[in-house]
Amino acid sequence: MAAKLLLMLAICRWIVTVGLMLDPTELLLLGVEERLSVDPLDLESASLDFGGLHRAEPWGVLHPASAQDVARLVKAAYDSSHGFTVSARGHGHSINGQAMTTNGVVIQMSTGSGERRRLGIGRPVAPRVYEKFMYVDVWGGELWIDVLRSTLEYGLAPKSWTDYLYLSVGGTLSNAGISGQAFNHGPQISNVYELDVVTGKGELLTCSEEDNSDLFHAVLGGLGQFGIITRARIALEPAPQMVRWIRVLYSNFSTFTHDQEYLISLHGQSDSQKFDYVEGFAIVDDGLINNWRSSFFSPRNPVKISSIDAKGNGGVLYCLEVTKNYGDLDADTIDEEVDALLTKLNFIPNTVFTTDLPYVDFLDRVHKAELTLRSKGLWDVPHPWLNLFVPKSRIADFDRGVFKGILGSKNKTSGPILIYPMNKNKWDEKTSAVTPEEDVFYLVALLRSALDNGDETQTLDYLSDQNRRILRFCGDAGINVKQYLPHYTTQQQWRDHFGHKWAQFYQRKLELDPRHILATGQRIFKPSCNPTSASWY
Ligand code: FAD
Repeated sequence: MAAKLLLMLAICRWIVTVGLMLDPTELLLLGVEERLSVDPLDLESASLDFGGLHRAEPWGVLHPASAQDVARLVKAAYDSSHGFTVSARGHGHSINGQAMTTNGVVIQMSTGSGERRRLGIGRPVAPRVYEKFMYVDVWGGELWIDVLRSTLEYGLAPKSWTDYLYLSVGGTLSNAGISGQAFNHGPQISNVYELDVVTGKGELLTCSEEDNSDLFHAVLGGLGQFGIITRARIALEPAPQMVRWIRVLYSNFSTFTHDQEYLISLHGQSDSQKFDYVEGFAIVDDGLINNWRSSFFSPRNPVKISSIDAKGNGGVLYCLEVTKNYGDLDADTIDEEVDALLTKLNFIPNTVFTTDLPYVDFLDRVHKAELTLRSKGLWDVPHPWLNLFVPKSRIADFDRGVFKGILGSKNKTSGPILIYPMNKNKWDEKTSAVTPEEDVFYLVALLRSALDNGDETQTLDYLSDQNRRILRFCGDAGINVKQYLPHYTTQQQWRDHFGHKWAQFYQRKLELDPRHILATGQRIFKPSCNPTSASWY
């Protein structure tokens, strides 16, 4: 009763303050009022994201207890005479307000929030592992770390990962979900068998390659535009026990990329003849030691970057990062297999840094860095990240223009700059995800934090301007990059981004979310209920 009263009061306030034309009974008849929060702390957390660059003003936050709760709310928005927007929020780790909405309701899909505990709402569904079929069914808001914990109880694990596990299943499947395993297994969207999805009309549908396949492909990489994923069936493999984690250094870019491309070309070989993970990063200054992923270079593995002469090469060094999984059964052969692979590479002699660790610790490595940064107050800062897919044929031009040009050697890097290649044949062209038109393309991820430490080159303005210059450089040089986790402000830019996939994307939107209710924070389609709103977040 108290919850109903609070909600009623909140709706009346919205009617007065934003001129909302909403019949309060529309929301009160849904049967979700106990889980629809208007608590200021809850609204505040749903109005921000990891990027820290935008802010929204949602009316309310739904903590769903089931897929039916999600369906009821979306159906109410769809059927409502005046309409309101609905944004699924996974763990809010977007950069540019993609999971936000103003004048609408945020559905908090991930289950770890304090508000959920206060309201006494448990996890909608616990992960269910099907050992025989080697897959797991999980709630769309489940965090990957919890998916891993559940499957490990059966000695199993998903095949394809992101570098950081505190992201939701629905959030990464709405983009692609990539890491060093993608060259071999494809992105996470290539490792899903089935989904339950609430469309923009409020229908709860099951879809797969066989059934409702258009919905299935639309939603994978679909930036939340076509439906809210409430369940995903994820492919599993036997979980490795241990990981040998190796880093080697290069000063020559073409040798570095040649070796990376060679390693990912081995994807069809038997497990013993390829690495399990291939990534890499650029070191544009001596900041490697301060880099948030560099705990690897421990006192056991001392490295003096300054002792390596990179000056003749524009002052930039490159680090190849690979891993090989092993367990009790192949512990005898791991040295031999790794040596056989390393002898084929042309890194700088005596720059091999190795560490052995449990598989879980390797997968969860970025969380350790997060805890360190949090303890120094460096986690909740603005993150003007830029992620690009660069075609293989132009990666050397990108290196010259960006790593050795725009970024130069004078800047301090306040975050890692990843660079690693992937095989396009591991991506399903039928999904909504967009990649360059070449068999091999690189992820270049500039994962920098803006700091207020008196160094002009680390400020938000400076880094944002650099991002713009990088995009301008690519445009001027005719390098057909595609943004990963894209962010644009006009529909023309979105058309250009999707290229030949735009017509299909548009058509799917018409069919699956005709009132443009969902994920308006992506700024692709203007919501029909609030067409004049300047702010879509
Ligand atoms: P949110 O930010 O909450 O949502 C993202 C989008 O998906 C929004 O549009 C939202 O409306 C929509 N959405 C959320 N849940 C659902 C759902 N259930 N159904 C439909 N739509 C939904 N990405 C990689 O690929 N590889 C990495 O290695 C990687 N590392 C990262 C490390 C860090 C520290 C951070 C902050 C991000 C990283 N990312 C990585 C990016 C990350 O995958 C995306 O930002 C992802 O969207 C975040 O997931 P989330 O659960 O926080 O989604």
